[in-house]
Amino acid sequence: MEDRIRIIEGDITKEETDAIVNAANTTLLGGGGVDGAIHRAAGPELVAETRKIGGCPTGEARATRGYRLPAKWVIHTVGPVWAGGNRNEDNLLANCYRNSFKVARKLGVKTIAFPSISTGVYMFPLERATRIALEETGKVLQSDREFTDVIFVCFGEKVLNAYQKIYKEVFH
Ligand code: ADP
Repeated sequence: MEDRIRIIEGDITKEETDAIVNAANTTLLGGGGVDGAIHRAAGPELVAETRKIGGCPTGEARATRGYRLPAKWVIHTVGPVWAGGNRNEDNLLANCYRNSFKVARKLGVKTIAFPSISTGVYMFPLERATRIALEETGKVLQSDREFTDVIFVCFGEKVLNAYQKIYKEVFH
């Protein structure tokens, strides 16, 4: 299973996977951080499509085309805003990963790249979020042979270090 997971430092808009995942907000109309970067790189056709979708609840996922991105698909998922840990944040973040894989499977996606959902503006503690990301991915890959390559694209060294550390704990 571990041979299907890769952790790299980089910019997710450059990934040539079948799909990249966007840490969107409930409007799906774009925002800051990775969401803004994806919308800028994809071009205005992206927001035209997300406008038609009409939003997405926290923890769920919706697919669009990738337009000017190298990736064919963008899977938009809405992470929880951290509110201290007692507002179902862990479960909602786990749902983001589960539902992103569910949408990806329906599209026939084999290779997929994820950003560190909720750990930017939404302030989810990084190591806690990373553990959820890797544990949920491990569960999916155990039962699903269709995904050949799952890439965690870490934006900066702090995120990269967290993923490398938690990876060892989760998959030892
Ligand atoms: P959220 O609102 O879900 O917290 P953010 O975009 O603010 O989303 O942050 C989520 C993560 O995405 C952070 O680790 C941030 O550094 C990272 N990020 C920002 N730009 C990019 C990018 N171009 N590629 C990959 N990750 C990015």
